[in-house]
Amino acid sequence: MEQWLVGIDLGGTTTKMAFITEDGIIVHKWEIPTDTSNRGERIVAHIARSLDETLARLGGTKEQLLAIGIGAPGPVQEETGMLYEAVNLGWKHYPLKRQLEEETGLPVAVDNDANIAALGEMWKGAGGGARHLLFVTLGTGVGGGVIANGAIVRGTNGAGGEIGHMTMVADGGAPCNCGKTGCLETIASATGIVRIAGEKLAASERPSALRGGDVTAKAVFDAAKTGDALALEVVEEVTRYLGLALANAANVTNPEKIVIGGGVSKAGALLVEHVAAHFRRYAFPRVAAGAEIVLATLGNDAGVIGGAWLAKSLIGA
Ligand SMILES: [Zn+2]
Repeated sequence: MEQWLVGIDLGGTTTKMAFITEDGIIVHKWEIPTDTSNRGERIVAHIARSLDETLARLGGTKEQLLAIGIGAPGPVQEETGMLYEAVNLGWKHYPLKRQLEEETGLPVAVDNDANIAALGEMWKGAGGGARHLLFVTLGTGVGGGVIANGAIVRGTNGAGGEIGHMTMVADGGAPCNCGKTGCLETIASATGIVRIAGEKLAASERPSALRGGDVTAKAVFDAAKTGDALALEVVEEVTRYLGLALANAANVTNPEKIVIGGGVSKAGALLVEHVAAHFRRYAFPRVAAGAEIVLATLGNDAGVIGGAWLAKSLIGA
């Protein structure tokens, strides 16, 4: 009987789940909507029921499951697997590890969602097993995960590796969802890119393919690829700050791989080339020489695969 790890990526709208072999191969994956009603009180029971139902449908038994690794959208206390706060789920000081263990009877490891995505990319994705890795995900926000010596840096409050909230504009920067101003997230997220493009469009009458259309991060990169001068300026500004942030973060841990994921990373080579050029300018030369900047390869599977890695390390497999 093949034994499986369970990887779960708990998000504010959907929960991705997968049965995964000890070698990191996805056997079966599926997703369910996340029921955030009544402060998310049914989320864990819902996950446990979906696990049982899916297992039954596949003709499997509970004895086949080894352990669960779950990523949640908020900072996590390492020892207890308690979620300090997850605004999207309505949870505050929620004992996720204990609740999910009670509901499923399986050992559970909990981590932050960006951290498990980083672990997934390290194990089976663009990280190629690198023991020193930075992961940054550029989506609606900017998430980060730092792996040093093969382990996630969680820090004293579960807030380690928050590359998205490095202050890039010391004074007068745009407001961030975290309460500060000038965070990397206000610049290099899809939202930040749209804001910067809007400012540049409003500041002059210069012609641009972006005028009159729906300005999205994708539209900015698409226009830049055709040589649109204004769009290229936006890309240049965004990647300069991103390269600077990654250089400063890399100077702390001297990573082998810097993995860029999230929706914005679909811009591909243009993004990587611009970021890498700025990174090399700002990083300590020995750090720059040791680091390779690459695109994430696991897409939406990074979280469940990283969850499985966490589950595997929990049981010492
Ligand atoms: Zn912030």
